[in-house]
Amino acid sequence: MSDLVVTERTKVRRRAARGRYDRDTVYAILDEGLVAHVGFAVDGQPFVIPVVYGRAGDRLLLHGSVASRMLRTLRDGFPVCVTVTIVDGIVLARSVFHHSMNYRSVVVLGRAVEISDMDAKVEALRAIVDHVAPERWGVARTPTAEELRATTVLELPVSEASAKVRTGPPLDDEGDLQRPCWAGEIPLRLTALTPIADPALAPGIALPASVASYRR
Ligand SMILES: Cc1cc2nc3c(=O)[nH]c(=O)nc-3n(C[C@H](O)[C@H](O)[C@H](O)COP(=O)(O)OP(=O)(O)OC[C@H]3O[C@@H](n4cnc5c(N)ncnc54)[C@H](O)[C@@H]3O)c2cc1C
Repeated sequence: MSDLVVTERTKVRRRAARGRYDRDTVYAILDEGLVAHVGFAVDGQPFVIPVVYGRAGDRLLLHGSVASRMLRTLRDGFPVCVTVTIVDGIVLARSVFHHSMNYRSVVVLGRAVEISDMDAKVEALRAIVDHVAPERWGVARTPTAEELRATTVLELPVSEASAKVRTGPPLDDEGDLQRPCWAGEIPLRLTALTPIADPALAPGIALPASVASYRR
């Protein structure tokens, strides 16, 4: 896979060595992330809205109600910024100044367009659903024509994008290393707990393996 082209807008300047522009890294973060924050400005007022998303090749997929202000604003090629963040740990340094976080994040800039073709729209919805809960599309009822009409789906090319990754211990000043202050990392993970069945679940339905073993 070719690397992303670095533009003036996506060049990581602060801690530039943490910047990544290879599609493997960018796609791995997008595939592991769960929530995207979608930023856009209306009449000079920025809004940043959390949503779920999916990825199909080099396209990021967003969906929601046709009534959504966010999707109505974006569907005709409005400038947008989509950010996905995975927090891997809290980094405790010997100085307050050098406290940090370990993370993997992606920022995608561009313009989204609506997917109008019905087959493409269904495929995009499948990608979003299976991104959140693998194999779910194959077991849940698929959308009716009416449900599809009530849903807007957008695609945003992952072309002007960057990743930024921090790993490892704190980067304390040399002079602080002997301080009597514990330093290191508290690793954090998004962990699925035991699934809770819907009280209205029809009898005799076993917990699917894909749900029982859910992890990101
Ligand atoms: C984890 C997560 C996943 C979601 N996934 C989707 C998705 O895939 N598709 C989708 O359409 N929506 C999703 N939502 C809901 C989404 O965040 C918006 O609430 C919704 O899309 C309506 O957007 P809108 O632009 O029409 O909001 P409007 O109702 O027009 O927003 C008006 C104002 O309401 C407030 N507001 C709106 N949404 C939120 C919010 N989430 N939290 C706090 N204040 C808010 C803000 O002040 C905003 O300016 C998700 C929310 C969360 C938290």
